[in-house]
Amino acid sequence: MTEPGFGLYVHWPFCLKKCPYCDFNSHVRDSIDQTRWREALLKELDHYAALTQGRPVTSIFFGGGTPSLMAPKTTAAVIDRAARNWSLAPGIEITLEANPTSVEAGRFAGFRAAGVNRVSLGIQSLDDAALKFLGRAHSADEARAAIELAARSFDRYSFDLIYARPGQSLEAWAAELEAALVLAGDHLSVYQLTIEAGTAFHTAHARGDFALPDDDLAGALYELTQARLAEAGLAAYEISNHARPGQASRHNLTYWRYGDYVGAGPGAHGRLTLDGVKHATRQKKAPESWLAAVEANGHGTEETLALSPEQRGEEMLMMGLRLAEGIPRRRFRAELGVEPEALLAPVGLARLIEGGFVTLDADRLAATTEGRQRLNAVLAMLLG
Ligand code: SF4
Repeated sequence: MTEPGFGLYVHWPFCLKKCPYCDFNSHVRDSIDQTRWREALLKELDHYAALTQGRPVTSIFFGGGTPSLMAPKTTAAVIDRAARNWSLAPGIEITLEANPTSVEAGRFAGFRAAGVNRVSLGIQSLDDAALKFLGRAHSADEARAAIELAARSFDRYSFDLIYARPGQSLEAWAAELEAALVLAGDHLSVYQLTIEAGTAFHTAHARGDFALPDDDLAGALYELTQARLAEAGLAAYEISNHARPGQASRHNLTYWRYGDYVGAGPGAHGRLTLDGVKHATRQKKAPESWLAAVEANGHGTEETLALSPEQRGEEMLMMGLRLAEGIPRRRFRAELGVEPEALLAPVGLARLIEGGFVTLDADRLAATTEGRQRLNAVLAMLLG
């Protein structure tokens, strides 16, 4: 399938503790009223269903925060409401992000019974010292046990790893990748550690508590990752995502193929074509403000913005060039009514093609592996 699909993203904003590198909309609370949260999520789904009726949902993604801390009853209620409000496409992918603590793994059967058929585990490392540095609440043994349980419990599973950590050598990362490959199913997400503003790591890094690998080593770590995973049959289909053929995350493909998706829950973003115009939607970010708004108005939408052709072109490029498959010409025509040449800076495009960073043929525009490694620079040149 190469069409973007129509996705539903549901954000659960709570975590047991805040990881020092994390800039997601995640919060720690002493107690959560699951019933109130469930009712509010269902209300917001009703609101968006009224705007987007008649479209079959091709994927549902429970992200966070830590949605494996959600009561399975809530997960089941959201899936049931999605089926009632829209319809569920045959073979729908329903993913839940989970952390590998024993408490959450203990709920896998409940999530499975609710209808979840894919789990994405935040493993991050298979090394106890690295897990400690990353501030994770689980051990490497717990991570292995959770992966094995996920493999037995769900049709499909994936896990995340973070590399380019302080002091990590090529040899050490190669060994960790081998250990991961023993446990891997059909999908792996492998991210370079980045320092985001507003995180505890940002302060610690600025203070000089640790240093990241320099650009040369980071580049070598990226290349090693690409080569080893491709050799193992898990080629990159996106900058940080690897899968066997046909096993890419369909929900994330909807984002990258610039399809429409509903974003429900605190801070969730959506892209919806309403009356023929693509809109960006954004929900209130603070959990309590979102909850109060939904209870008062039926939704927690902070902003609904009609996107200009320039904004759509830019977003489509930013998303689509992350993918190895690139962007088909027909998507440029359908979304913007033009061929890619009309959108791109001619000099920048020519230089990127000549340098081996971008390809453009009769069928599609794509960034090469080298181009995807430097995507921000590539985009700056393409957009002039
Ligand atoms: S568990 Fe995930 S979402 Fe929560 S703080 Fe850690 S990295 Fe962020």
